[in-house]
Amino acid sequence: MNVVEMQGVSRTYGPVTALRDLSLQVRAGELTALLGPNGAGKTTAISLMLGLSRPTSGTVRVLGEDPRHSAVRARIGAMPQESALPGALTVREAVTLFASFHAAPLGVGQALALAGLEDRANRRAGRLSGGERRRLAFALALIGNPELLLIDEPTTGMDAASRQAFWEALGELRGQGRSVLLTTHYLEEAERAADRVLVLHGGQLLAGGTPEALRAQVGGARVSFRAG
Ligand code: ATP
Repeated sequence: MNVVEMQGVSRTYGPVTALRDLSLQVRAGELTALLGPNGAGKTTAISLMLGLSRPTSGTVRVLGEDPRHSAVRARIGAMPQESALPGALTVREAVTLFASFHAAPLGVGQALALAGLEDRANRRAGRLSGGERRRLAFALALIGNPELLLIDEPTTGMDAASRQAFWEALGELRGQGRSVLLTTHYLEEAERAADRVLVLHGGQLLAGGTPEALRAQVGGARVSFRAG
């Protein structure tokens, strides 16, 4: 089963073509990395999957539905590239508040632990470091107990130890049967941790498959992605 299906999707912004006849699938229960350099169209693809914008042409299905339906949105945990966080609340208060928006949330303690925020629980969100802010955004994406996580560049701004912990948490979430799609510039991380890697460039899918299959297909492109 596929949790995301994009068929022949194009998205233009005036004269700019962000996505060009893009077809891709994200499989249930897998961790999929959408890899590509700046401007490849990753954020555009995620915003279409979240139903935040419409394709210029083509179709987008998420969990079998049009993602603009609110019933589908409730089953997705979204972590945008930049999050507006409630700066005056402590981390625990923010996560508790967001839990109250959901019918069957995760436990607040569980979300804090998965996000590696237990020792920051009483710090105000407005006083967190950049990497800690990303972790709080992650906790807020998780708290609704989502079937599918859509995560835009989660590890940008995180130090190496936080990145490692983040990938471990994603592995745990996948082990619980959740599906994860995340965007990244880092080929090494994608190769190490993802079940499947989709390579986006210029709004088109260059290659896709398991990390092993991908290495065989686009071995020569590795250097250009590393710079991102
Ligand atoms: P990054 O890694 O830098 O976040 P990305 O792969 O997420 O890049 P997008 O943000 O999807 O790429 O952008 C794809 C293309 O579409 C870029 O050329 C970008 O300038 C353009 N674009 C994206 N959003 C808009 C917008 N709202 N208005 C005009 N152009 C846009």
